[in-house]
Amino acid sequence: MEFGRRLAGITDVLTGDEIGDDYGHDESIGGLLTRPAYVVRPRTSAEVAEVLTLAAAEGVPVTARGSGTGISGAAVPRADGIVVSFERMNAILEIDTENHVAVVQPGVTLRELDERTAEVGLVYPVYPGELSGSLGGNVATNAGGMRAVKHGVTRHNVLGLEAVLATGEVLRTGGKYVKASTGYDLTQLIIGSEGTLALVTEATLKLQPRIRHTATVLAPFRDVTAVAAAVPTVVGSGLAPLILEYIDALTMAAITHTADLQLGIPDEVRDSSQAYLVVMLENRDEDRLTADIETAGELLTGLGAVDAYVLPGGSARRLIQAREQAFNTGKAAGADDVIDTVLPRAALPEFMAAATAIAQAHETFLVGCGHAGDGNVHLALFQKDAERRATVLRELFAAALRLGGAISGEHGVGHAKKKYFLELEDPAKIALMRRIKHAFDPAGVLNPGVLFDAEPEGSE
Ligand SMILES: Cc1cc2nc3c(=O)[nH]c(=O)nc-3n(C[C@H](O)[C@H](O)[C@H](O)COP(=O)(O)OP(=O)(O)OC[C@H]3O[C@@H](n4cnc5c(N)ncnc54)[C@H](O)[C@@H]3O)c2cc1C
Repeated sequence: MEFGRRLAGITDVLTGDEIGDDYGHDESIGGLLTRPAYVVRPRTSAEVAEVLTLAAAEGVPVTARGSGTGISGAAVPRADGIVVSFERMNAILEIDTENHVAVVQPGVTLRELDERTAEVGLVYPVYPGELSGSLGGNVATNAGGMRAVKHGVTRHNVLGLEAVLATGEVLRTGGKYVKASTGYDLTQLIIGSEGTLALVTEATLKLQPRIRHTATVLAPFRDVTAVAAAVPTVVGSGLAPLILEYIDALTMAAITHTADLQLGIPDEVRDSSQAYLVVMLENRDEDRLTADIETAGELLTGLGAVDAYVLPGGSARRLIQAREQAFNTGKAAGADDVIDTVLPRAALPEFMAAATAIAQAHETFLVGCGHAGDGNVHLALFQKDAERRATVLRELFAAALRLGGAISGEHGVGHAKKKYFLELEDPAKIALMRRIKHAFDPAGVLNPGVLFDAEPEGSE
C-alpha cells in the first residue's frame, strides 16, 4: 500500500498543499523552507510509536516539531520526510503540589504551563525568551534562558520522560524523585539530543515556589570587559540573582527603541556607557529584598558601574521582555548569524577581547547580549560575505573551546552549527555520539542531517 495511506491508517496525515509553510522552517537566520512530504499530528504515544515503526521499516526520515521557535535549523524537515507535530499532544496532565512536579505532554507551551502553575503559587523556572516554545522542544534543545543563573537549564529541571524510539519501543525514564543511581541516565541522554535519539511524548518537570517580590537593578559600565569581569563577583556575592544579563550599548539602544521603552538613564551616562548589567533579585520578604537592592547597588558601583538604577516594575518587565526579543530585533536589523557560545564565567573578559579582535580582523560587526551569569554570550554577526562569515564563526568557536567553553550553550547544533561542531569538537566524542545515535536509532531515521551528516561514512 502507498506510504501516505499506511500513515493515514495510524493517525491524521497532511500531504501536498495541505501542508502549511510553518511546518517547513524554524526561526533560524537564513534557514530555508523545506516542505516535508507528510505531516502527522498524533494524539497518543501509541500513535507516535506506530508512525516511527513504519518510518524505520521504510527508511523515511522523521523530524519532530514543537512550536518551531528553534534557532539552529533542527526542526527543518527533509523534503522526503515526515514531520511529527506535537500540537495535539498538548495537555498538562498533572500539577502535583505536594511533590512540586508537573507532568506535561510535549506540545504544551511554556506560557500555558506558566499560567497554570501561577494558579497554585508555583513556577517552572526555565524561561527561554520565547514563551510560545513547547516543552518537547525545550527538552530536545536543553533550552536555557535568563533564569539559568539561579535555576539551571532544562536538564536540571526535568525529572523524567516518556520517549518513543525509532524501534517503536516506548520508554519511561526517571520519575517524581530527584535522584537515582540505577544505570545510565537516559533522561539526560535524550535531553538536548535535538530529536535525533527519541521523540519525547511526556515530561515530568521540577517546580519551584513562585517568589512574590522582585526588583531589577540596571548598571551601566564604561566598557564591555568591565561588565564581563564583574559577573563572577556578583554571582559569588550570595545575592543569588534570578537574572544576570549583560547587554551591550548598541543592543540596548536597539531593543529599547523597538519596544519604545525609556529607562530614564541620563543622556551623559548613556552616551558614555558601552554595556549594561541587568540584575534581577527576588525575595519572599519585601524588607530583605530592599536590603539586597542596596547591597547590589554598592557592589555594582564598587565593580566599576557608573551608577545603579532600580527600575520601576513596569519598565523592568518591559526591559526583560525586550531583552527576550533581542534575537528578533537583531534578525530584523539584518544580522547574518547569531551565536550562543558558552564559557566559564571567569573567561568572559578574555572571550570578549578575542571576539573583538576576530571581528576587527575580518571587518565584521558584532553586537550582543547574553546570560552572563551562566557564561552564555549571544552575539549577532553582521557580515554579508558567506566565506568570511564562516571564518569568523570558526574563529569565535575555536576561541570559546580554547577557553574551556562550548559552541552552543542553549540553541543547539542543528544544521546551523553542524560543520563547526564536526570540525572543532573532539573526534573521540563525536565518534561515541555517533555510536549512541546508532544504538537508539539503528535505521537512522530520526532527524538525519542534524548533529551529524545524514549518511556518515563507515562509523555508524
Ligand atoms: C525570540 C527568541 C528567543 C529565544 N530565546 C531563547 C533562550 O533564551 N534560550 C534558549 O534556550 N532558547 C531560546 N530560543 C530558542 C527556542 O525558543 C528554543 O530552542 C525552544 O526550546 C524551541 O522549542 P520549540 O517547541 O519551538 O522547538 P522546535 O523549534 O519545534 O524544535 C526544536 C528541536 O526540538 C526537536 N523536538 C521538538 N519537539 C520534540 C519532541 N517532542 N521530541 C523530540 N524532539 C523534539 C525538533 O526536532 C528540533 O530538533 C529563542 C527563540 C526565539 C525565537
